[in-house]
Amino acid sequence: MIDVCGTEGGVPEKKTVKGMVFDIKRYSIHDGPGIRTTFFLKGCPLSCWWCHNPEGISPGPVLIRHPGRCIGCGKCVSVCPTGAWSLGENGSLRYDRAACILCRKCAAACPPVAIEIAGREMTAEEVLKEAKKDIPFFDESGGGVTFSGGEPLLQGEFLIECLKKMKEEEIHTAVDTSGFCNTDTLLRASELADLFLFDVKHIDSGEHELYTGVNNAIILENLESLDEALAARGAGRINMRIPVIPGFNDDRDTLARIAGLALTLKTLSAVNLLPYHSAAESKYNNLGMEYKMGKTVKPPEEKMNEAKEIFLSLGIEAVIGG
Ligand code: SF4
Ligand code: SF4
Repeated sequence: MIDVCGTEGGVPEKKTVKGMVFDIKRYSIHDGPGIRTTFFLKGCPLSCWWCHNPEGISPGPVLIRHPGRCIGCGKCVSVCPTGAWSLGENGSLRYDRAACILCRKCAAACPPVAIEIAGREMTAEEVLKEAKKDIPFFDESGGGVTFSGGEPLLQGEFLIECLKKMKEEEIHTAVDTSGFCNTDTLLRASELADLFLFDVKHIDSGEHELYTGVNNAIILENLESLDEALAARGAGRINMRIPVIPGFNDDRDTLARIAGLALTLKTLSAVNLLPYHSAAESKYNNLGMEYKMGKTVKPPEEKMNEAKEIFLSLGIEAVIGG
């Protein structure tokens, strides 16, 4: 979401770019080097079956229920202006997403925080203020700020503004991207960010589309363009991140083809092999979304080691995990 103030009476006003952020995670050790503060930006053009942050897919705010926390006080029903919350005949609480206007009144009134609205507007200045609280941890650990999502480059102007602010304060930055984004925006970000955590999910475009909703042509083109730009500048690196998903990309041939792609990159610093897990399944229920992975289980350690070996055998530094 971009809100750019215009001019009034011929006097140019200072531009204010706002973004939609759905979470801030502090003390993260999986989103780049050192201890990091990760800002999760809303909106993603992909719909990966295994997405860990389904609350970040839609561009606007979304209401999340936590039924296990509910104490049945009924405050949500009494404050809701549209009747989106109601009590059934047996006293069970019902939520009608279609009737909800996301006014946030129920979330504010709910004593045990059983209702959450994911997504709030922030300015880049506010993001910087939050990040600066953690500078002692960044300095101690070689950490910094990571922008994730969602797809952070979807809110391009906001992301660029945030990256500029961090650079002014000499805070290390990483951008965690699906690569499915506007190439110009990506290249502008490449002039500011220190590291890109670039997801590669599959080489085959048809398979990619089946499980993520989009084909991978633009992603692979963007990866090449980003690599060229970083190499030309002599600054900035790429970590390739591969979610290892059973039945999708965990076979030897697919991983070998991805490793072949990694080998072509001039600015590759590492490959992260991220084993699938189903920890986000409950989020789908709480959001009223379908979890398509069914009973898929985490790949065994042996399988992950085999995957890692494919990369190591080509001289590519690969690690299991973030
Ligand atoms: S966010 Fe507002 S409209 Fe939506 S359920 Fe809560 S009180 Fe009702
Ligand atoms: S306000 Fe919260 S705790 Fe009370 S009934 Fe509604 S969801 Fe449950």
